[in-house]
Amino acid sequence: MIKHYNIPIFLPELACPYRCVYCNQFSITGLNDIVKPDNVKAIIDNHLSSFKEENRFVEVAFFGGNFTGLPVGMQNDYLEAVQPYLEKGLIHGIRCSTRPDYISLQRVQEIKRYGMRNIELGAQSTNDEVLKLCKRGHTYNDIVEASQIILSEGITLGLQMMIGLPSSDEENDFQTAKDIVNLGAKETRIYPCIVVKDTELASMYQSGEYQALSIEEAVRRSSKLYTYFIENDVKVLRIGLHASDELDSEAYVAGPYHKNFAEMVFSNIWEEKLTNINTESKNIIINVPESQINHAIGWKGENKKILSERFGNVTFKAKDERRKTKDNKGCLSQFDTSTSSVTDFDFTITSKEELPTIIADGRMPEEAKKNLKKFGDVLFLNPTEITYKSISAHPDIFFFQTEDGFIYAPNAPKRIVKELKKRKIKLTEGKKEVGKKYPETVPYNAVGIGDTLIHNLKHTDSTILSLYKNHINVNQGYTRCNLVALNENCFITSDEGIFNAVNGRQTTDNSRVAETQRHRDAECCASTGSATEKLKAQSRDASTMSFIKQNENTFTEDIVDTSVQKFVLYIDPKQIKLEGHDHGFFPGCCGVWKNNLVVCGSTKNLKEKEELDKFLKDNNFNLIELYDGELVDVGSVFLVRNEE
Ligand code: SF4
Repeated sequence: MIKHYNIPIFLPELACPYRCVYCNQFSITGLNDIVKPDNVKAIIDNHLSSFKEENRFVEVAFFGGNFTGLPVGMQNDYLEAVQPYLEKGLIHGIRCSTRPDYISLQRVQEIKRYGMRNIELGAQSTNDEVLKLCKRGHTYNDIVEASQIILSEGITLGLQMMIGLPSSDEENDFQTAKDIVNLGAKETRIYPCIVVKDTELASMYQSGEYQALSIEEAVRRSSKLYTYFIENDVKVLRIGLHASDELDSEAYVAGPYHKNFAEMVFSNIWEEKLTNINTESKNIIINVPESQINHAIGWKGENKKILSERFGNVTFKAKDERRKTKDNKGCLSQFDTSTSSVTDFDFTITSKEELPTIIADGRMPEEAKKNLKKFGDVLFLNPTEITYKSISAHPDIFFFQTEDGFIYAPNAPKRIVKELKKRKIKLTEGKKEVGKKYPETVPYNAVGIGDTLIHNLKHTDSTILSLYKNHINVNQGYTRCNLVALNENCFITSDEGIFNAVNGRQTTDNSRVAETQRHRDAECCASTGSATEKLKAQSRDASTMSFIKQNENTFTEDIVDTSVQKFVLYIDPKQIKLEGHDHGFFPGCCGVWKNNLVVCGSTKNLKEKEELDKFLKDNNFNLIELYDGELVDVGSVFLVRNEE
């Protein structure tokens, strides 16, 4: 991403033969020494040395006063000072601000040769009566003609405007904005009219002839104008005056001056947008672009307060990873508004009831944690002394996930149990405590799906056993670490025993019988017994991923029957990281939420990647990778419906 920098050079009041009623340039810019052409080099060098971003676009900007009204020799001296930097590619363009009545075709052509790319005209209003009362010294027609000349030379046109000028009302201000769009401007600035000491406007204000806008009105008006401009592809380079010591102290008389004016405007735009929320929920999450989150919450949290009164519990969340706008030395504006577009104000509403509560190992990589938080309400487990270190913060050691809640070990971390209770998640306390060593570590490490429980049944907590009608016994005590159920028919495992148990599983009620098997993609072989044998062999080769079909109630070599199919995908565990061990297990990286398989790490380097993607696609599952790094066994990620 290219970073845009401006190097501002202020030339206050220089060459301006007028005195608009509100103007006291020295006060507004806070400068009383005029920059000479000789000083330009030092200013540029100083700024360039402070820019950190390598990939950047830099412009020198001559602001204030009336650049094209300067004696031609002086204009050229300023522009000459920039040329060595343009030639070396350190500066990429020049921009200036000037008056509309000081634009001629010849002058524009000359300054264009020096690298002038953008010219901003101080239009302020397009209403002749307002311009006259303000003693601007030019008319709307001057603005039109100057705009046409600038555009005819292929230079980007900027038209600045002011709100709240004498005799201007909201309608006039909005008309000015419309004219700015229609004249072909690509940039604008919105300045509220401020009453400054030692100006004619100050006298008008004191005599009652002029009434300044209140800050609230200026914010409201600016936010409407801002929205209108971005909808019409006009960049708003600035809203509000630059802060200055003079304005902060003796120069200010009246009017909507505030250091955080732009933030107040953005907050107001969000307030307007959020007013229209219509939901029954009393617990909502508003997902907004990351760069806008503070504005959405509102100036001094006002928007959140208003919404909380309406909806109860309101949370704002960043919905993407966009870079926040930073305030850099050399930036055109203290608060860079120019990066905004209509989509920056897009938001979505989620009812909290729709989001899961999540239990996860607090030691997972930071980026994964950050992304998991976007997915729901996460409770992170911290390591405890209850069991050995590598699994001491693993959710699947302390919690067994049921269809709508958890069975938990009596010595499970109290904080997590308390938080789950607070969220009204269905909880049942188990009988067995988790201990230091196997098999005391596994009573809850089982998988329950539908009416079937899969575990090493010798070690299962009795509360869990009693919950399921069918029990499948496997040798692996760490069953959940090694098996994740996408649904009643689809499983992923990293354990050969579990893989084979699914092939020829035994159930405690013995009502189920052996199954046939086949590679899911090998239907062409399905009708021959020899093909079936081959597939059985393949399925026993645990280093090869296989899909297994199981017919539910009949033992048959006829594997064409697809009425009830169950599939298991094997993923070699050697590819999974688990601190303190040679490796972990793929299901230990995983959690399931609706039709999403949430994985702690990237699957791109898995040797079974193609099969995994196909498996998920065939079963209408999405893959959500929590970060782009190695797959880490985090003792499963449990996602459960939030009943709060
Ligand atoms: S045009 Fe008006 S505001 Fe600008 S410098 Fe001249 S007098 Fe001041």
